[in-house]
Amino acid sequence: MSWEDKVRRVVPYVAGEQPKERDIIKLNTNENPYPPSPQVLQAAKELETQMDRLRLYPDMNAAPLAEAIAQRYGASPEQVFVGVGSDDVLAMCFLTFFTGGGKLLFPDITYSFYPVWAQLFNIPYEEVPLDDQFRIRTEDYLNRGELAGIIFPNPNAPTSLAKPVAEIEQIAAGNPGCVVIIDEAYVDFAGESCLPLLAKYDNLLVVQTFSKSRTMAGLRIGYAIGSAKMIGYLKDVKFSFNSYTMNLPSIVLGTAQIRDDAYFLETCGRIVKTRTWFCGELSRLGFEYPEPSANFVFAKHPEKSGEALFKKLREKKIIVRRWSRPRIGEYLRITIGTDEQMRAVVKALEEILPGI
Ligand SMILES: *Cc1c(COP(=O)(O)O)cnc(C)c1O
Repeated sequence: MSWEDKVRRVVPYVAGEQPKERDIIKLNTNENPYPPSPQVLQAAKELETQMDRLRLYPDMNAAPLAEAIAQRYGASPEQVFVGVGSDDVLAMCFLTFFTGGGKLLFPDITYSFYPVWAQLFNIPYEEVPLDDQFRIRTEDYLNRGELAGIIFPNPNAPTSLAKPVAEIEQIAAGNPGCVVIIDEAYVDFAGESCLPLLAKYDNLLVVQTFSKSRTMAGLRIGYAIGSAKMIGYLKDVKFSFNSYTMNLPSIVLGTAQIRDDAYFLETCGRIVKTRTWFCGELSRLGFEYPEPSANFVFAKHPEKSGEALFKKLREKKIIVRRWSRPRIGEYLRITIGTDEQMRAVVKALEEILPGI
């Protein structure tokens, strides 16, 4: 027997490239092109005069931040669970809620971290195919017998397609015997949130993040909102794993960010506007894409290879995301950056297309 026989072996999630070059247009991990609110800088300056606070452990519940999130969404602080990015929150959810008999269901084309967590935690799962227009079919998630749970992003990634909340309500209503998690990482870019459904369905949990619409991927903040009972179970598991995950600067700066709603709405609005313009340009260049509701577009050209487009853009120092997987190999997922960045993408595509 070697020690290696006792290792937990997993195939890890592969995140988008984080390039070292500085002069690159980085549109591959759906970060926000705008800086955090000026209120965050103000809070950072105040924190700088209180470095003594770093001697102490932070609040275990990230209380000021959880309270600010609760206030923003009309929930009580007991309904909010805060974690180190929504990846941390989602991992804790998998560990907490998906222990029952039956399978965990999620789409075949979706956030590729879900199968990784399911494998890590030994949760049996089924990848439910999207229809040929990349839609999540409601009926595929109904009358499925005993399930461990259901999870999908809305809008879905990497398709950018949103599912109407009324259809998600049918899934929540039809599955009272398991937890249904809606991963709303992209909901603020003109999507429709499932938060109003929480009052009616105690098996529903909504997860959101500061990494995309709240322009703070570097700070690592995510949160779940659900019933106090559900959040209580989540905290029990989290406190059985690592109590102090949220550091003080994240709590302080995150609180400042979520309190500045005007800035948040303005930057989201700008991205939606840029997306509309960029989609018009993509159509003009012959690209096809599902109607986007996130801060990215999932586009393919009917006559050009996705791989060739990806490589040529990379040569021009524009990084987008592509997966060499069945059904989506010809697609590029392009994050919406500033107007200037997207003009550069259009110019690059105009130069590339005739030559490939
Ligand atoms: C980006 C993303 C997340 C995780 O983001 P964090 O940075 O960990 O908050 C979760 N779900 C989806 C669908 C995402 O695209």
